[in-house]
Amino acid sequence: MYRTQNCGELRAENISEKTTLSGWVQRSRNMGGMTFIDLRDRYGITQLAFNEEWDTALLEKARKLGREFVIQITGEVIERSSKNSKMPTGDVEVKVEKLTVLNESKTPPFTIEDDTDGGDELRMKYRYLDIRRKPVRENLLLRSRVNLAVRQYLANLEFAEVETPFLIKSTPEGARDFVVPSRMHGGEFYALPQSPQTFKQLLMVGGMDKYFQIVKCFRDEDLRADRQPEFTQIDCEMAFVEQEDILQTFEGLVRHLLQEIKGISVEEFPRMTYADAMRKYGNDKPDIRFGMEFADLKPAITGSGFSVFENAEMVSAIAVPGCAEYSRKQLDALTNWVKRPQIGMQGLVYCKYNADGTFKSSVDKFFNADALKNWAEITGAKPGDLILVLAGNTKLTTKALSELRLHMGEELGLRNPDVFAPLWVTDFPLLEWDDESERFHAMHHPFTAPKPEDAHLLDTDPGKVRANAYDIILNGNEIGGGSIRIHDREMQKRMFTILGFTDEEAQKQFGFLMNAFEYGAPPHGGIAFGFDRLVALLGGEEVIRDFIAFPKNNAGRDVMIDAPATISEEQLKELTLAIQEN
Ligand code: ASP
Repeated sequence: MYRTQNCGELRAENISEKTTLSGWVQRSRNMGGMTFIDLRDRYGITQLAFNEEWDTALLEKARKLGREFVIQITGEVIERSSKNSKMPTGDVEVKVEKLTVLNESKTPPFTIEDDTDGGDELRMKYRYLDIRRKPVRENLLLRSRVNLAVRQYLANLEFAEVETPFLIKSTPEGARDFVVPSRMHGGEFYALPQSPQTFKQLLMVGGMDKYFQIVKCFRDEDLRADRQPEFTQIDCEMAFVEQEDILQTFEGLVRHLLQEIKGISVEEFPRMTYADAMRKYGNDKPDIRFGMEFADLKPAITGSGFSVFENAEMVSAIAVPGCAEYSRKQLDALTNWVKRPQIGMQGLVYCKYNADGTFKSSVDKFFNADALKNWAEITGAKPGDLILVLAGNTKLTTKALSELRLHMGEELGLRNPDVFAPLWVTDFPLLEWDDESERFHAMHHPFTAPKPEDAHLLDTDPGKVRANAYDIILNGNEIGGGSIRIHDREMQKRMFTILGFTDEEAQKQFGFLMNAFEYGAPPHGGIAFGFDRLVALLGGEEVIRDFIAFPKNNAGRDVMIDAPATISEEQLKELTLAIQEN
């Protein structure tokens, strides 16, 4: 038997018992005639004690152990003379009587401690060592707990977990597909699913009623920070539901997770239309942990003679609480911040609403105290606040002011990772015009139903049609999104036409789905959550990589196994992919 207990288990009540433990040598400390070793496993750390007065040979043996050696010990649990209240096992230590080296270890390339000296790439290359570190280990254990809590909630509601295939057919869903060459059908390819979308809809046609799956999805997207080419979704679909049923079911899931994992009960679960989210926050995934809503200053500035404002399509402001005393230097820094190429503004106008009720702005030449007071009224600024104004074309200014708002929220510590503020955003536009390809794209995906009351606009003004779609947002992150689906063949066909498919193309790519709709497809809808991000947020972080056991780096590589990699000439030939030489 390798162990009677694990390394996180022993307490004062075990004193004078015999124990056998196995684990890794985290650290050893030699002091005079004594050596102390921290023995680590997944469950914790237990201190081992060796003393020349007890056994000199054993002490010598202990002193030869290197970091990360795997050992087994047997001994007696004794009371520690200097207790460590920070460790659950800190009241006791083990007086070792027998020591077996189960395996030696080379000196690890970085320290296996909470704060490691290893850089990202190195830690990724030796991910199995990184996983021994408590922060990574805790993240993976958190992921496992969230996983179980999701299954528990959905199983309670009679959702059935059904697996869908990974080797499917290439379909357009926004991103590029990863493809897999078929050996048996030379020149033909499978694609890895970007999501199980069509399959889950077919499960509804198949009468499964409530489906879920915690499933890998694959998207061959260009490199972006914190994107993984393979990621995990909690994918769900329900039959005979309206939007309201879905929203209630899945805000229930989020409530359940916050309760189970964080012990937090969510009071409110607000809903906001896309139009309102854009108007108030300039963002379809607003962080509502703090205010600073957009205020439209355009009506208040006409006739001022300040041409920057007069000529701008949009002039909007936010009132930043308590920042009226910002120094010249701080204001210059903010101006430079909005002028960075990533933000791209020409400049920033500010107005201090001083605590004594006076105003001081960067445009005093054009606006007197009355005008500035009007700004304060429009933005809701109070004495002591700082009003920040951006002006320019609507698209750029909206985005810039949204970024500035988040930046100020961050600066003021208003984006507290321990506060959870979820909300639904609904009523997205169904279609998005793409200037490049000169056609409409589905904002969500081509299977999303229009809002019934807007369907009549499909032929006359498709850009105005709102989708029966919803996103669930947590702390400024989209954690999930879905829609009520089209379940009528004619409507689906019409949608493909609007999206620029010919009938033949639509039939070739999605004939299987449209055919299924001819055999009694029930009304249905669903949602998918980004599992990696959800877990990261529950872990109080926004970077998903450390919540994935074996992630890819930012270049999409697995630096541990070194993938992607070339394959042999033999394999290429078999797959009919070999380049013919002539
Ligand atoms: N399949 C969609 C996605 O991956 C989610 C859904 O509509 O359920 O975004």
